[in-house]
Amino acid sequence: MTILKDIKLDTSGNIGKDFLKSLMGGRLNPQIERMLEEKKDICIKNISPKIIYEIFKIDKIKGNSVYFNSGHILNGPNISKILKGSEITAIFIFTLGSGIDDMIEKTSSDGDTLATIIMDSITTSMLTILGKKAGELIKKEGIKKDNWSSTCTYSPGQFKWTIEEQKEIFNMVDGSRIGVKLNKSYLMIPFKSISGVYGFGPKDKIDKTRVACDICPRKNCIGRR
Ligand code: SF4
Repeated sequence: MTILKDIKLDTSGNIGKDFLKSLMGGRLNPQIERMLEEKKDICIKNISPKIIYEIFKIDKIKGNSVYFNSGHILNGPNISKILKGSEITAIFIFTLGSGIDDMIEKTSSDGDTLATIIMDSITTSMLTILGKKAGELIKKEGIKKDNWSSTCTYSPGQFKWTIEEQKEIFNMVDGSRIGVKLNKSYLMIPFKSISGVYGFGPKDKIDKTRVACDICPRKNCIGRR
């Protein structure tokens, strides 16, 4: 089990701007531009990025189920498709920490809807930056041989992988070690957290799906890549 804390994120760009523009139909007025800068600084002060992951050996894939040597099983048509051909899997959880949730919740309960939307956009973008960093670190460990590569990442709750599968993800990796737990609806607390998998194996055998969006039918999703 690898746990990484005190992670430094590159927050130098226009974090949250593109996401906010998509939400607001393409334009931001000067007042929103100013708020974006101001709230970015506050968000940076309140994040506490952490990553936890562990590598598991795949025993077999049968039908829609992926069986691991550890005895764990992941179920779903797309997770079995994405991991087919991989020999090992990294199961990961990463989070921006509870400070961000507390801050957004307080701003929302104060009735400041615009500030809530802006901070949500900024932290959603920060979560993407943390995800890229987590992917780089995990791939360094998962790509064991010169002829190996990694699959795309895939998460419970994405198309055709039920949110209930979070339970098995958390059986495999102890999210509480970085302060992440599941609520009764299998949503992660803190809310600004992501869990998922990468598969690793020989380049000519692993699944070639570029990103999970390519197998998702939600054409107008603003998160589409
Ligand atoms: S299109 Fe949207 S909902 Fe579908 S996988 Fe991509 S980000 Fe998720």
